[in-house]
Amino acid sequence: MNMFDDINDLYQQVILDHCKKPRNFHELVAATNSAQGHNPLCGDNLKLFLTLDGDVIKDASFVGSGCCISKASASLLTDNIKGKTKAEAEQMFERVREMVTTGKVVGDVAKLAVFAGVYKYPARVKCAILSWHALMGALKGEAKPISTETENS
Ligand code: ZN
Repeated sequence: MNMFDDINDLYQQVILDHCKKPRNFHELVAATNSAQGHNPLCGDNLKLFLTLDGDVIKDASFVGSGCCISKASASLLTDNIKGKTKAEAEQMFERVREMVTTGKVVGDVAKLAVFAGVYKYPARVKCAILSWHALMGALKGEAKPISTETENS
């Protein structure tokens, strides 16, 4: 299963780069929020850490293991949400979910646009959205692990 066949080269390069060298790939000692995410269909497991200051996400990181798409997604997510408010992060989640399930880019998704082609690969959508479900869980203070198989995605 090679999902890269017809994704354009630039997007492919960005995803591979974030997969091989994930950004913010460590635990956050000062984390105020965290959530575990699991995608049983692919075997992706990750834990997302956030440091919240009031309503603002000051820092974000993740650890775990999984396929290239799930790692690149978590890497780009943690890079992208630093400095955003909870409301802005939720809005970004909605945009990314729309994009990876329909291929439509609505509003500003910044570098996350590299995942726009994922909708053509239904088995990969959950890999791409896993870290975003973990983010929503972390923001809500969910104690139990988030599974893509129990979310209404
Ligand atoms: Zn995966």
